Amino acid sequence: PATLGIVGGGQLGQMMALAAKPMGYRVVVLDPQINAPAAQIADQQLVANYDDESALRNLADIADVITYEFENVSQEALANAVPAKQLPQGTQLLHITANRLREKTFIADLGLPVAPFAAVDNVVALDASCHKVSLPAILKTVEGGYDGHGQWDIPNQEALANLLAHWDVPVNTPMILEKQITFDRELSVMVARDISGDIRTWPVTVNEHQNHILHVSAAPASLSDKIADEIAHIAKTLANALNLVGVLGIEMFVAGDQVYVNELAPRPHNSGHFTIEATNVSQFEGHVRSVLGLPIPEIKQWAPAMMLNLLGDDINRARRELIDHPEWHIHDYGKDEVKPGRKMGHITVTGLREMKALRAWGHQKG
Ligand code: ATP
Ligand code: MG
Ligand code: MG
Repeated sequence: PATLGIVGGGQLGQMMALAAKPMGYRVVVLDPQINAPAAQIADQQLVANYDDESALRNLADIADVITYEFENVSQEALANAVPAKQLPQGTQLLHITANRLREKTFIADLGLPVAPFAAVDNVVALDASCHKVSLPAILKTVEGGYDGHGQWDIPNQEALANLLAHWDVPVNTPMILEKQITFDRELSVMVARDISGDIRTWPVTVNEHQNHILHVSAAPASLSDKIADEIAHIAKTLANALNLVGVLGIEMFVAGDQVYVNELAPRPHNSGHFTIEATNVSQFEGHVRSVLGLPIPEIKQWAPAMMLNLLGDDINRARRELIDHPEWHIHDYGKDEVKPGRKMGHITVTGLREMKALRAWGHQKG
């Protein structure tokens, strides 16, 4: 059988592997951590860092096609070690999405709406760029951030002064300052192109965050025709401009009838996990199909669905209490160490009754 190589062994790689295996593919995962979540499912693991070129070369020898499960892989190492024909997603997508400034510029240049933003090369210069963006704003490191890491809210001048007084990050760390959008809802959409270039989108999701970390996602979002059309336009424009292969996750803010693109993920996305139970083709199967050159049928959702992330110790509560919820689908990523705020698993439910029950469960502390 053909072999799929996945760079990165986290939960996204795990769910890619869980989609690829029953399709008959062998799966090899490259991750420095022995028995990482994806490696528990894969046929084979290469234990090495993501930028280890000799390990990547080894992966390219074993695998027919290589994909990645997160955007902070080294594009340079991938380009050096992996022949282009084995990396159908290419490196341009990574180049753009690994850097918030490049990403926002790319999106804006396509004529798509983003929050006003400015590059910050040195936090000492922050004051000046603030005037361009205007407070309240959010400062973000250009590279490497996720789950709100590397992000600072700046509601007003006092907060800015306070932030600078306690600044402990190297001053020349490249940053982006974004105007804080007062949004009504956060939405996301997953899009993929298949072997024929057909663009497939999954139902739009409504996302709720806690402490900058995704808490619950529900789909399908109820949308006005105008917003639905705008989101379809955004997804199609990005998929074509990127020559997209694989799944792209698009995070958006909605304020009134204005949609802003927040950020892109060059891979399946946390808010799309409901597709495993609630659609005909999950975002992970869609990703695997796209990178391996298979068609993807039109996406259908069977029932309204909601996903709740299990952060830190939530996983233990879910393990204990799941016996009371026969309708719930638990996904336990099998991470060895429970840390506060760490994504340990998720629960998906379908149907309005269970969605309500899961939301109530999420509000309880246990
Ligand atoms: P992820 O884990 O989704 O990759 P991230 O750390 O890359 O997250 P963002 O998605 O940029 O960070 O921001 C995290 C959250 O912070 C957003 O989902 C949103 O709730 C809030 N946020 C970020 N930027 C803005 C903005 N310009 N205006 C308003 N809220 C924002
Ligand atoms: Mg992000
Ligand atoms: Mg985000």
